[in-house]
Amino acid sequence: MLSNSLVELDRRHLVHPVSSFRGHEARGVRILTGAKGATVTDAESRELIDGFAGLWCVNAGYGHESVVEAAAEQMRQLPYATGYFDLGAEAPIKLAAELAERAPGDLNHIYFSLGGSDAVDSTIRFVRYYWYSKGQPERDQFISVEQGYHGSTTMGAGLTALPGFHEGFGVPYSWQHKISSHYTYRNPLKTDAEIIAASVAELKAKVEAIGPEKVAAFYVEPIQGSGGVLVPPKGWVKAMRDACKEMGILFIADEVITGFGRTGPLFCCEEEDIVPDLMTTAKGLTSGYVPMGAVFMSDHVYETIAEGAGAKAVGHGFTYSAHPVSAAVALEVLKLYEGGLLENGRKAGARLMEGLQGLSDHPLVGDVRGRGMLAAIELVTDKDKKTPLPASVQPATRLFDRAWEQGLVIRSFAQGIFGYAPPLCCTMEEIDQIVDRTRKVLDLTL
Ligand code: PLP
Repeated sequence: MLSNSLVELDRRHLVHPVSSFRGHEARGVRILTGAKGATVTDAESRELIDGFAGLWCVNAGYGHESVVEAAAEQMRQLPYATGYFDLGAEAPIKLAAELAERAPGDLNHIYFSLGGSDAVDSTIRFVRYYWYSKGQPERDQFISVEQGYHGSTTMGAGLTALPGFHEGFGVPYSWQHKISSHYTYRNPLKTDAEIIAASVAELKAKVEAIGPEKVAAFYVEPIQGSGGVLVPPKGWVKAMRDACKEMGILFIADEVITGFGRTGPLFCCEEEDIVPDLMTTAKGLTSGYVPMGAVFMSDHVYETIAEGAGAKAVGHGFTYSAHPVSAAVALEVLKLYEGGLLENGRKAGARLMEGLQGLSDHPLVGDVRGRGMLAAIELVTDKDKKTPLPASVQPATRLFDRAWEQGLVIRSFAQGIFGYAPPLCCTMEEIDQIVDRTRKVLDLTL
């Protein structure tokens, strides 16, 4: 059988991202063969609702012919153009302009990367160059938040605060520091105001301990994704942004997951009422059809770097920065968002939250949280004590497999958390099916 031979070839030759090499060899690969809308099909012809939009990225859903056509047309006309040597192409220029028009505040300058990790990595370099240009190169210390994820490049993996991305790799580095996550469900502080005040105080104390003249930037996901979909109290992001402004350090919003309609508006910063100094996006930018990320730079960051470099080249860039095919796809995807997808996502998101809240009566559901089409439930064996599921019950792979058997793709986090990030095109029926199938998985896990 084709699928059997593929499983064997995969086992022998394909190194999978973020996987246990040995565990993967034992389990074997699950092969997807097709997709349409919010549904994916596997090699056994099983149809599943993709409750996780691939890897929180296929926001527009699968199978949009107009996107395929945009890519094909760009490939026919001009498959590649470098941005080096002052060259360019129409699609990335138009895309940069469209994004700048929609971005919060004065985030008017766009640098295109290949995905989220290298977008974050690029910001680390731009931030260093910014302080160098200002004559303060000693500002080389970076702060991020526990439970945060900022990709897995050599530098960005250190801003990431999930141990699996550090152990054995020699990161994080001495110039990378962390403050505690807000993680409201497990935070001993009870009110939003207390949590916000404690985070601001911790950030200020951290800056003081490092030396205020040495701190370059603070990184935040408006909602922490890979740490378990941790939604901060309302006002937390703004309070952290204000604290950075007060201390004179740059504030970087990592919207790789939250960007492009995932939480409702085009960018989550809009509803947090903040304008970061730099913002990173990827995933929903092209809705996963082709790779692309984007760094948004505010006027003052751009101008400072431009002045600092003068006639010299700012030595940062990739062969595939501002790839015309990716840009053509992103332009088409942007049309889809504004042609009804964002609106549908907002309705479907409200339905998803309502449906998941309805699972709170289940003995295993300790917490339900989320915003828009980004949500999680946290499983416990004792709701009062918030006791996590024992390791024997909750291996992430087992719960993932159980959901798969029910026709549902979810993200199953190792801590006993189910993550949801369905495509914004989901119908209300599909949202209800996501919730119903989740209940079946929970019943089977009791
Ligand atoms: N930043 C955040 C907040 C992310 O969630 C991710 C990926 O999930 C990244 C950065 C890295 O993006 P990529 O996997 O496209 O490199």
